[in-house]
Amino acid sequence: MNTPKTAVIGAGIAGLSCATQLKAAGLEVELFEKSRAPSGRMSTRHGDGWTADHGAQYFTARDPRFIQEVNHWLTQQFAAQWHPRIKVYEASEWRDSASPDKRYVGTPGMNSPGQYLASHLNIHFNQTINQIERRDGHWMLHSQESGVLPHTYDYLLIALPAPQAAALTNSMDQEIHRLTSLAAMMGNWTLMVQFKDKQPVDFDAAFINREIVSWICNNQSKPGRDGLETWTIQASSEWSQQWLELDKDAAAKEILECVSRLGFDCQDAVISSHRWRYASGSVDSSPGYYFSTESQLGLCGDWLNGGRVEGAWLSGYQLASQIKKCLTTN
Ligand code: FAD
Repeated sequence: MNTPKTAVIGAGIAGLSCATQLKAAGLEVELFEKSRAPSGRMSTRHGDGWTADHGAQYFTARDPRFIQEVNHWLTQQFAAQWHPRIKVYEASEWRDSASPDKRYVGTPGMNSPGQYLASHLNIHFNQTINQIERRDGHWMLHSQESGVLPHTYDYLLIALPAPQAAALTNSMDQEIHRLTSLAAMMGNWTLMVQFKDKQPVDFDAAFINREIVSWICNNQSKPGRDGLETWTIQASSEWSQQWLELDKDAAAKEILECVSRLGFDCQDAVISSHRWRYASGSVDSSPGYYFSTESQLGLCGDWLNGGRVEGAWLSGYQLASQIKKCLTTN
């Protein structure tokens, strides 16, 4: 039997995890990624003398399979444990966070574990897949940048946020249609800020409840960071979703006014902003992944597995395990 050829669309942590397992099992795997770099929402922005994680801020590890993976990243020095001083702000009061979670970050940036996984894989960057077609038992892809792609694939695995997976599959599978419509993904407005002066606060990061802002974090408190002190400030999902179409300067103004009320001096702050259209959200039942043995079409991603980095990595891992099982029973 010929080695099955697999296409994975999306090189976020779910697609990278899935492709890594399949490659290790001997499958021929190609990934297609619309950006010029891997990692998706586990991302780090580089500015003039600064860097900041502007997507996922840290991750936790509870499942033994993910713990094993994170231990590997720790050994390879692509991740490290982060020991922040964390506060919680609610109803005009500050308190220490009581969460006992062990928190990890990529080093030197949140995109580092993804870059590490990507370095062992065959990824076509700057390829936005905008059409898929099943013909004679094989999958064909079409990209915005290159038109019809030259190869066909036995398996097609889609590792995209739910709305993007829905747009691509366009009702070709009723179960995909059902699942993607259950994941109400929400946007997020994020600022990366260099304040003029050192801020008079006694924490590295804070969860803010019931305000426009929901998270604020000093990137330089994370291991392996250098450059100018830069704070990542995220608005809440509810506020972001409501004001997603706001002009970016207007969104930044509202967010900074909230941060000023929390005690930060925002005078002459240098700001960079990012709007995530699909930041968070998941299917309540957490099916983990989806795979059709009939069409050899699969889906993975955080939204199928409780959201977050661990859920995304496990979703890709579980989809790959299902395909390996199908291959051994056929
Ligand atoms: P993604 O990372 O979204 O990967 C999808 C990939 O597909 C992307 O690289 C994208 O460029 C690509 N793509 C999209 N469309 C196409 C197309 N048509 N063709 C080709 N490629 C395409 N999680 C935590 O655990 N802890 C946190 O603190 C945390 N904070 C967060 C804060 C923010 C602001 C955001 C946005 C997310 C946060 N998360 C956090 C969630 C975490 O980042 C995600 O759960 C995880 O990274 C999702 O991985 P994924 O592979 O499922 O999807």
